[in-house]
Amino acid sequence: MAVVPVIPVMIPDLGEEEAQAAAEAVRSGWVAQGPRVARFEQEFAAAVGAGHGVAVSSCTTGLHLALVLLDVGPGDEVIVPSLSFIATANAVRYVGATPVFADVELATGNVTVETVDAVRTPRTRAVIAVHQGGVPFDTVALRKAADDWGIGLVEDAACAAGSTAYGAPAGTGARVAAWSFHPRKLITTGEGGMVTVDSPEAAARLKRLREHGMNVSAADRHASKQPVLEAYLETAFNYRMTDIQAAVGLVQLGKLAGLVAQRRELAARYQRLLSDVNGLIPVTDPAYGQTNYQSFWVLLTPAYRRARDEVLSELAAKGVSARRGIMAAHLEPAYADVTPCPLPVTERITRESLILPLHHRLTEADQDHIVGVLRELATR
Ligand SMILES: *Cc1c(COP(=O)(O)O)cnc(C)c1O
Repeated sequence: MAVVPVIPVMIPDLGEEEAQAAAEAVRSGWVAQGPRVARFEQEFAAAVGAGHGVAVSSCTTGLHLALVLLDVGPGDEVIVPSLSFIATANAVRYVGATPVFADVELATGNVTVETVDAVRTPRTRAVIAVHQGGVPFDTVALRKAADDWGIGLVEDAACAAGSTAYGAPAGTGARVAAWSFHPRKLITTGEGGMVTVDSPEAAARLKRLREHGMNVSAADRHASKQPVLEAYLETAFNYRMTDIQAAVGLVQLGKLAGLVAQRRELAARYQRLLSDVNGLIPVTDPAYGQTNYQSFWVLLTPAYRRARDEVLSELAAKGVSARRGIMAAHLEPAYADVTPCPLPVTERITRESLILPLHHRLTEADQDHIVGVLRELATR
């Protein structure tokens, strides 16, 4: 039986340089949070347009800390898109607050001022807006609305490193944003995340929150010539990143611009090839910004005449590892106890979209093959 080579949906761009950097961290003897984490925080914050970066163990733990920073707790409601990876909604429950699902717009998969306003109540304390699959939400409109309403805005930028809004990196001007370095994102540290803020006070509190509530970091205590007696100012967490991870992250960060440019070229080629396949709508840039195409998704319309899962099966049979579209938390058992307002666009996108392979090793021949399968299905 012939073995069909599989085109993966995503491959992290890891090489010898990352392996060397990790090895150097190990050889240095400093493997927990230390100088490499501090450097990665500075360089990452600068790259995404933020004043300060606080490295954490994942974007999920970063979202948790962002809500703690905003003093969100029991009795509060936090508006989130159901159309997101489930960690967005889970973070709300970690602080004992209630997630309230907002619908999204069809073109970007993102919440808007209107969809958030539709589910706002007097108990709304904050909203978590997601730059979905790297497609930026309208940062100017939503940040202004959150200020006008007097609620917090946490930006789930898990997928958005390298995306832009209004001509600047997507994190520019964010009150608080959380980023992911999971291998499914553009740059990776294995597991890992970052919280970015502009205010130095917020950065200091976040640094304390990720390290047991201590008023001195272990690194500072180690560097001090005098004995340092730390105090624990509040009940907090161990959400630290290691220096081994940060060493890898520093190398990865140097690749970010190149990875984004390459993904945008491949995405443009997908869009050209797909333009003559009836009934498929590929994701594109919104008017106010540019996506890094962390996920290249395609919406199936009734004109395509094939169900999404049938398309996924056919692609798999032809050696293409595609994925269902972005999940919807309100359809999962973990959120069966929540009765959301109607979410028609969310349900349409999650049921009728799929994510096509896009990574640094994807060739034009791979793309021709993938689009060929989709075209053949449309005409059969
Ligand atoms: C991947 C992802 C997360 C979780 O990131 P981790 O670093 O794996 O915790 C959260 N939100 C969104 C939108 C994501 O895509």
